[in-house]
Amino acid sequence: MLIGLCGGICAGKSSIASYLIEEHHFKRIYLARTAPTPAVEKSASYTHIPTPDTSLDEESLTFPDVESLLHFVTLRWRERWVTTDIWDETVVDMLMRRPFFLLVSVDAPVSARWERFKARCAAQGMSPPLLGEFVLRNDAHLFSPATGLATLLHRARLRLLNSTTSLTSLRTALAALDLPNDVRLRPSWDQYFMQLADLAAHRSNCMKRRVGCVLVREKRVVSTGYNGTPRGMKNCNEGGCTRCNQGSHAGMDLGTCLCIHAEENALLEAGRDRIREGSILYCNTCPCLTCSVKITQVGISEVVYKEAYSIDSKASDILASGGVRLRQFSPPRAGLVDLSVSAPEDYCSPGAPNDAILNRDYLHMAQELSGWDENEGRPIILDPSG
Ligand SMILES: [Zn+2]
Ligand SMILES: [Zn+2]
Ligand SMILES: [Zn+2]
Repeated sequence: MLIGLCGGICAGKSSIASYLIEEHHFKRIYLARTAPTPAVEKSASYTHIPTPDTSLDEESLTFPDVESLLHFVTLRWRERWVTTDIWDETVVDMLMRRPFFLLVSVDAPVSARWERFKARCAAQGMSPPLLGEFVLRNDAHLFSPATGLATLLHRARLRLLNSTTSLTSLRTALAALDLPNDVRLRPSWDQYFMQLADLAAHRSNCMKRRVGCVLVREKRVVSTGYNGTPRGMKNCNEGGCTRCNQGSHAGMDLGTCLCIHAEENALLEAGRDRIREGSILYCNTCPCLTCSVKITQVGISEVVYKEAYSIDSKASDILASGGVRLRQFSPPRAGLVDLSVSAPEDYCSPGAPNDAILNRDYLHMAQELSGWDENEGRPIILDPSG
């Protein structure tokens, strides 16, 4: 695999590259830059990275253009490569076409990056620029119209917020994240079908909750469904269901609701004949009681869900008594991840227990437990990273 790290000046790219090299046998590769590098960034970008494999030195792993770099890695994609030379959108466009490439962005508060930058200057016997100059350089680095990296950072599959206060805590957070896990390159079947269920949920017109569902047999999609009013009726969000539009609490007045649930729609679409032993129903929300009754009756073997629902226990009893396996799947962490808040160890594992703590709850809990106040300045331990 090839991990590309991009981010602001002193956000932590080189520290993460070092971690991957030292702990996970990655090798660093380099891409020559064609555009001129601003002076401050150039001095900020120098960090010594130990290369465990002395047979391949830095020079032989520096490529004049992204095509030659890609050609090199394509022949060796089963090995682990890392680069911080993500210079512009063209480089990202080229790299992202390949199935072995993962773009990871790193960002950090400007105050933390400033402290790291000063520490790096001190380590190299240089006097740092004024804070104002550093800020302007950062803005140019991220937001200048032609060469700014800000839009590029948002294309990363994994966006790391590195406000960690020491290299040790950064490394601990990275270990929990399991960066070399190649499921981020190519989704597992569970992840694939759950993403399809999420996509179906986006078509929902129900005012209460977006639910999507995919029915699968032998790893093939049999049918999909999302919740909303029956065909021919006004959509729920256009006033089609009075109950949903009155703001009733979850699970209340269900008898007057006109919306068909995602699971019901998927089952109706498939028909009894196409559902056989071994069929799996993926749903972004744990099925309700009445859906569980129907799921059990049509002979589905397994239900995989992502988010819990308020009346799960009755539904799980029905499914269990009907011999339907029920399992929760939480995809590996993607999107924005705050490295200063570590995740519970079992969060990423497929088949985590039903009471697995949702990420947002954990974030909230961790902040409460630590008494962390975002208005309060926290001590910054210098981290000379790039
Ligand atoms: Zn509705
Ligand atoms: Zn309704
Ligand atoms: Zn239901």
